[in-house]
Amino acid sequence: MSEPNAPKPPSDAPPAFAKRSLAAQALGRVDPVTRAVVAPLHVATTFLRDPDNGYRSGFSYARPDNATVREAEAVLAMLEDAAAGALLFGSGMAAATAVFTALEPGDHVVAPRVMYWGLKRWLNAEMPRRRIAVDFVDMDDLTALERAIRPGATKLVWIETPGNPLWTITDIAGAAQLAHAAGARLAVDSTAASPIHTRPLTLGADIVMHSATKILNGHSDVVAGVLAGAVADMFWERLAAIRSGGGAILGPFEAYLLMRSLRTLPLRAAAQAAAAAELARRLQAHPCVSHVLYPGLPDDPGHAVAARQMEGGFGFMLSIRVRDGEGAAIATAARVRLWKRATSLGGVESLIEHRASVEGPDSPCPPDLLRLSSGIEAVDDLFADLDGALRNT
Ligand code: PLP
Repeated sequence: MSEPNAPKPPSDAPPAFAKRSLAAQALGRVDPVTRAVVAPLHVATTFLRDPDNGYRSGFSYARPDNATVREAEAVLAMLEDAAAGALLFGSGMAAATAVFTALEPGDHVVAPRVMYWGLKRWLNAEMPRRRIAVDFVDMDDLTALERAIRPGATKLVWIETPGNPLWTITDIAGAAQLAHAAGARLAVDSTAASPIHTRPLTLGADIVMHSATKILNGHSDVVAGVLAGAVADMFWERLAAIRSGGGAILGPFEAYLLMRSLRTLPLRAAAQAAAAAELARRLQAHPCVSHVLYPGLPDDPGHAVAARQMEGGFGFMLSIRVRDGEGAAIATAARVRLWKRATSLGGVESLIEHRASVEGPDSPCPPDLLRLSSGIEAVDDLFADLDGALRNT
């Protein structure tokens, strides 16, 4: 008989706690040596070999694997419901390009017309050299996707939802069905949704990618990327091999900071999405704004699909089009005092950017567009600052 109130022996069954509870405690792991409730930072690049020539700890060298990176990957896999696990990379671009690097010459890809411009530029530059054809289509139109897919030849459908910087929505379940019917995989850049608002693997996607530089880390002090997988198949193994062989793993300091951030991700994502929704609502009535692009607005073209596949909010990103055109948009960004005039997104500080200046003439981004990343400042301050900048008062 055990004593009353004796601690129960640990169970191997996964705990039935909410994701928010599991994230807050980084899965509740305790360091077995010190009983510390925060996992230690492992910086070693090499590990002692056993006398019998083995590596019983499972670690031999830091390029293929790192214990701190594994800790952050476990939290990310939990957040994404990723049965195959997660792989952290040195940037979002390193994670995304690993997926395309895993394709074979002759393969065909369908990707979005509206997507992160840096990846689109890389695809246009690199895919022809590898004899991989890419068609760019409007992914908010599943008929256009269906037309672009070449059954048997299309090996990857890449979507980004909400799509940067117009925040167009793609129906993940619909795209997965079309991709799978043709023998292709579906990969989703879910950076602007975060696993708090969308879990693409539960909707049929095979791979989900994030720039972890954005809201996953959320403090504008880490560059990182992640892939999470539904199935540990040969393609997933190949992604792990590309990371390891190419030396693209995230560094342990960055993984440590990222894990610290993941503990508060549910709080930050909810607050930033609430701020974005409120700003979108107020800006829609602003006399200097001609359009507000935000899938949380009931009249947004992507709202119905977003309402179906997003939960707990519609994300922290929105864009506005300034009624008086490009010059007025650039002047507005020059006048703000609280918003930071800077690229990137997802941090606790709100950012404003004239996107066409960055993306160049081939971009689908209108010249009068300002991209807004909502942080955690008081929403009244954010609105008042933007209102003054728009009105030049
Ligand atoms: N995907 C999206 C949607 C992004 O916004 C970005 C960066 O802005 C990336 C991917 C690339 O990520 P990183 O800058 O971490 O390489």
